[in-house]
Amino acid sequence: MHLNTDSAAQIIPRLPTLLHVLRERAERHPNRAALSFINDDQQETTITYGELTARVTEVAQRILAADHNVEPGDRAILLFPAGLDFIVGLFACHAARVVPVPACYPKPGRAMPQLDAAISDCSPSFLLSDSKTIDSMAFHRLSPAISKMRMVATDAPLAERLPTADDIRELPENVSQAFAEIEPDDLALLQYTSGSTNAPKGVMVSHANLMANLETIRNAFGLNYGDAEQNDYTRSVFWLPHYHDMGLIGGILDTIYIGGHTTLMSPRSFLSKPLRWLRAIADRNATVSGAPNFAYELCIDRITPDEASAVDLSKWSVAFCGAEPVAADTLDRFRQRFESSEFRREAFLPCYGLAEATLLVSCSDQGVPFRRLVVDRDALLAGRVSPVAESHPRNLTRNIVSCGAVRGDTRIEVVDPVSRSRRNEGEIGEIWLTGSSIARGYWCREEVNKQQFHATLDCDNAGQTFLRTGDLGFVHEGELYVTGRCKDVIVLRGRNYYPHDIESTIERALGDSALRCVAVATDAFVGDAMSIVIEVDRHLSDASLPELVRCARRAIIDEHEVDARQVLLTKPGTIPVTTSGKLKRAECRLRLQADEIEYRYQWMRSIISDD
Ligand code: ATP
Ligand code: MG
Repeated sequence: MHLNTDSAAQIIPRLPTLLHVLRERAERHPNRAALSFINDDQQETTITYGELTARVTEVAQRILAADHNVEPGDRAILLFPAGLDFIVGLFACHAARVVPVPACYPKPGRAMPQLDAAISDCSPSFLLSDSKTIDSMAFHRLSPAISKMRMVATDAPLAERLPTADDIRELPENVSQAFAEIEPDDLALLQYTSGSTNAPKGVMVSHANLMANLETIRNAFGLNYGDAEQNDYTRSVFWLPHYHDMGLIGGILDTIYIGGHTTLMSPRSFLSKPLRWLRAIADRNATVSGAPNFAYELCIDRITPDEASAVDLSKWSVAFCGAEPVAADTLDRFRQRFESSEFRREAFLPCYGLAEATLLVSCSDQGVPFRRLVVDRDALLAGRVSPVAESHPRNLTRNIVSCGAVRGDTRIEVVDPVSRSRRNEGEIGEIWLTGSSIARGYWCREEVNKQQFHATLDCDNAGQTFLRTGDLGFVHEGELYVTGRCKDVIVLRGRNYYPHDIESTIERALGDSALRCVAVATDAFVGDAMSIVIEVDRHLSDASLPELVRCARRAIIDEHEVDARQVLLTKPGTIPVTTSGKLKRAECRLRLQADEIEYRYQWMRSIISDD
């Protein structure tokens, strides 16, 4: 029997939570694969919609067991290695009316200050994990906060038999009661931000927020509800960490929303051999996959032309790219390298999003090449956007990738962050947002929430409130261009320099010698100055380092007409990054000012020549 596409299209978006969607899916297509995981040894495990739903019920029952005294709204830390159990845990929390708090899995022997911080921030009543993790004493020793917590395993003995229709339909009494009482305003996630600018903050995402954003993503990516034909459903592939919003919501949860099949692998598996990602996409005829800019860059660096021509990427139609600035140059080079794989230019979907807006805010149109804008460099430094011809001298222009139209019912205003007045089209300002995807605020931060989640425009007397994203950008011909973060901008003599522009100039100039680099504003004798930290290849001799500094300075003087005050060359691993690999510029700046960065070589301009 073929189910009618319209039936799912009518039912799914109206369901109050994703858990309801999962149960609906399990009834409609219990034997369809929901998730597969390929481990680092390339062995694969798969779970169907029916099995996933049955396991969720079982774990929810365990969470709600009488001796645990779990109350609706209690928090649970989800501590899982890459794999399928995390998703079982997440939905089991929903079924038990507990708020799941995804956490980064500790590396063996390493402290996890962020995990301790999240635990003291949201006071979870228990921790959900797999029995192998719970049994491993290593991390009990690591974290005092964890060792005091109650732990619930998601993989304790499961029924050996496959679930029957009754297992899916009939809920045990305690789960059935919790399920009946779920409200759209209950929290579906406490999603900690990446921590790029500050300590991570817990964003309160409600079921209603999640459903609104999942439908927005489905629509923006041009995906169907996956019901028409037994075989006509979306296949996606992801290696992104499941504890960050991009991998979780844009990857796994959206594919479940549309009844698709996601294949997962660990971030480590991708990082150690990027070809695995593209092979999985090709082997599974996946149409949806995405990652931040650096991942596309890694593929260009580490996959040979011969390897590239052996994978067929012709079916990949939604290659999203976001979470950090998107470089036109990276996407162009990726397309060239994978032309022989039949990768299509129009598959690229640059997008912009943040945890405070559940995830997706804007993305370029599916099925057409993304737009880019060449603008005058000096006008941009002064906060204005002045498009120029592509033929303009390269060092006097900037090429900015469009993050497309704002999607769903989200509305955007570009605002002067100081006066709170609207900026005109083509002027740079802070991105403010409103709509049903905007989360309910940060956990336990009432004062911050008033300012950041309930901001009002100077002219607005209708009481409309906005989320202040802290990001800068502009709108041009209906599309959003993100230029950087307010906190990271380096203001030198009245001009606004975006650190990632400076960093990519240096990376281009130094090639393989520079592994990672960061540009920050530091207090100088007179006003602000720019300091640069570059992690250099450990094989470079000390004697070669002064020339590297000269080369980096020459490149930024040529391209940006600005010089650094200080350049530090360091060992790899010195620059602080988030668990998702984003640069922590603010922390780097603090460490620099406290003289806490260990360097192999330092160049510093003398104060006398500073002006
Ligand atoms: P924290 O809020 O803890 O400092 P974070 O802002 O990096 O960390 P996330 O919510 O994971 O936490 O990331 C969202 C941010 O990523 C956005 O606010 C924006 O600064 C950046 N970002 C996302 N997409 C883009 C994009 N296409 N271009 C530039 N920046 C982007
Ligand atoms: Mg942020």
